[in-house]
Amino acid sequence: MSLEVPLSQQGRCAVHPDLPAGGTCFRCGGFFCADCATSVPGLVARLYCRACAARPDVNYLEALRQRYWGKRDGWAWWVAGVTLLCCVATAAALTEWGLDATKDSLFALLFLVPVPVGVAFFLGKRWARHALLATPLVMAVVAGALVPDARFFFALCVMPALLIGVRIHRDARNQLFFQLPVPPRALKALWEQRFNNPMAQQALRFGFSSVLMPLLAPIAVICGAVALTRVDPEATPPIGRRGQAITGLVLGLVGPLLWWLVLLPLLSGRTHF
Ligand SMILES: [Zn+2]
Ligand SMILES: [Zn+2]
Repeated sequence: MSLEVPLSQQGRCAVHPDLPAGGTCFRCGGFFCADCATSVPGLVARLYCRACAARPDVNYLEALRQRYWGKRDGWAWWVAGVTLLCCVATAAALTEWGLDATKDSLFALLFLVPVPVGVAFFLGKRWARHALLATPLVMAVVAGALVPDARFFFALCVMPALLIGVRIHRDARNQLFFQLPVPPRALKALWEQRFNNPMAQQALRFGFSSVLMPLLAPIAVICGAVALTRVDPEATPPIGRRGQAITGLVLGLVGPLLWWLVLLPLLSGRTHF
């Protein structure tokens, strides 16, 4: 004997009433068909109807992308600052040595090489991202040709500039400023870093500091307690870092206790002498 549910009593997709429902939306609870079931990056194991999946509070990674799209980030301002420093250095060197055909003035002019790159970077020209990596190398090669004895020194100077350049080049937030496609994984990492319970990170930081500086313990305890109330894995987007909040809270409580246990006997012992 088979149990047949009449067609009129089956769940139907809210958008396509002629199609049977394949499930319910995680947010609004409405029925959706197989076509309408939508998954959202960063929210695995949850399915939404199309309308809910398009909401910025549900598709929070897309909302994050739009929030930073074309918006200048900290690195853009940092590059602008270095560019300004290069201009000041060139001006100072030229007033010191004067502009003539000597090697010294050529060396000073070398500091003007990053200026167009820096300006283009600040204005969001995409070629400047790659030029930013090449500029320190070009400068080191030219400087090495001008002063061959100091080649090793120039190569050493170029290393930190290259490392910072690579870091900027790979930075998801900076890529959003240049309006480049950023994969959901990188968006998720950016969201984790900036918006996933930052208070818990503070609690952990203050917790560890309070072991050395017990005066910071109350801050660790307060941050940990507040962060703990914010943890909600069922929220959209899910808020985590429960472990960090608890660790910060415990360290904030244990830190002063350790001081009290270790330091107090030492201090009271000293008074006996
Ligand atoms: Zn829905
Ligand atoms: Zn449908």
